[in-house]
Amino acid sequence: MIIPHQMKGKSVAILGLGRSGMGACHALLAAEAKCYIYDDHQIPDHSPKGAMITAPDAWPWAELDALVISPGIPTTYPKPHPVASMAKANGVPIISDITLMTGAGIKAKIIGITGTNGKSTTTSLVTHLLHRMGISAQSGGNIGTPVMALDDPGPDGVIVLELSSYQLDISPGLKLDAAAVLNITPDHLDRHGGWDGYVASKARIADALPQSQSLLIGNDAGCLALANHLSHQGVQIDPKCAPQTGLPPSLRGAHNQMNIAAAISLLGQLGVSAADWGNLLSDFVGLPHRMEWVAHHKGVDFINDSKATNGVAAAKALNSFPNIYWIAGGRMKDDVLGDAINALDHVCQAYLIGECTDHFAKALDGLVPYHKSGDIIVATRQAYDAARHDAKPGATVLLSPAAASFDQFANFEERGTYFRDAVESMLSQDHKRDQAHV
Ligand code: ADP
Repeated sequence: MIIPHQMKGKSVAILGLGRSGMGACHALLAAEAKCYIYDDHQIPDHSPKGAMITAPDAWPWAELDALVISPGIPTTYPKPHPVASMAKANGVPIISDITLMTGAGIKAKIIGITGTNGKSTTTSLVTHLLHRMGISAQSGGNIGTPVMALDDPGPDGVIVLELSSYQLDISPGLKLDAAAVLNITPDHLDRHGGWDGYVASKARIADALPQSQSLLIGNDAGCLALANHLSHQGVQIDPKCAPQTGLPPSLRGAHNQMNIAAAISLLGQLGVSAADWGNLLSDFVGLPHRMEWVAHHKGVDFINDSKATNGVAAAKALNSFPNIYWIAGGRMKDDVLGDAINALDHVCQAYLIGECTDHFAKALDGLVPYHKSGDIIVATRQAYDAARHDAKPGATVLLSPAAASFDQFANFEERGTYFRDAVESMLSQDHKRDQAHV
């Protein structure tokens, strides 16, 4: 655990008792801070010893030194949560667990990674490379472990933080040694009051760097727009610095070249270099739900890319396989299919699921044949049967929804797991049927 000694004797309120809120609470108590905690939805059965579960109306606002708020809770747009408004009215700084962590006098170097897409992959790549080089490294933030539950790997080690725009908005005082913005395309605009607000949130990461360090930025239009907001010099990530050979299947596609180049450049900024990056990357396993290989049966591959919750991310997967039977849909983003509409060259047929079915059907009309499948089980069966019937080389049933999951699932992980299970049970039914006919 990281103990924020800077908060010793201070009074801190915590709103949102998910994993990061509870992690902050335990760490603040260990630092001998006074904690008032609350959650609109889930009050834990056992509060950490010493924390006071109290409704925000009863918090001693005049005494509070900070409000630690969960990144899921809006502080400005679409409208501030009433407790965020109370904090502003009382002059109480709104911070995140990440502010607490980077203010805690960590000895390790800290890398920050943001962007609309590719954050988790790049965070994992940096961490993998450091481990492979024998350098002690931990990752957290928007991925995996809540930051206060990390351990400081010490002066020779590195902490790699995945940072969402929500987290950047509530992390004043953030301090980083190297940072990258991978790309910026429209997403979550309602939480930022529009495009300019979204770009400005991403630009905040530059303020966390020392003056001498440049911010690494991607090469899309959004990153060029970002350059106008920057407090620091931006240096473009050069995809050519990624090795071209020896890469595992999970790092297929031009987007992963960018992620790899970002990882190598970030390490370069800390003075870490290697003679053969390809060799170090060759055993990178990849993350679940991101172009994750699920099965291969009778000439058809099944790929789970449930994490592609917007059109830009889905377009990357659609450009990475030769003959695609595409399962798409869910809760629609503002730009409908976004970039995915320009990446249909390899799509043989589309299978639409979820709330946005009619909108996606309208967008695809005349471009690719589509079916209104309704749910993943039906879509998987239809896609597999068509792929087997067509028998094209490299046929791939690809779940890459280009939409959020919340209409049918709790989150993208549940959606991806449901797809994996659907594939497994369909293949085992077919196997049993084939055996019965022998
Ligand atoms: P994030 O953590 O930013 O959501 P992930 O690494 O989890 O990003 O990848 C999410 C989705 O975005 C995946 O489906 C992947 O295909 C796509 N993706 C990954 N890297 C990039 C990139 N550099 N540019 C665009 N899309 C990407």
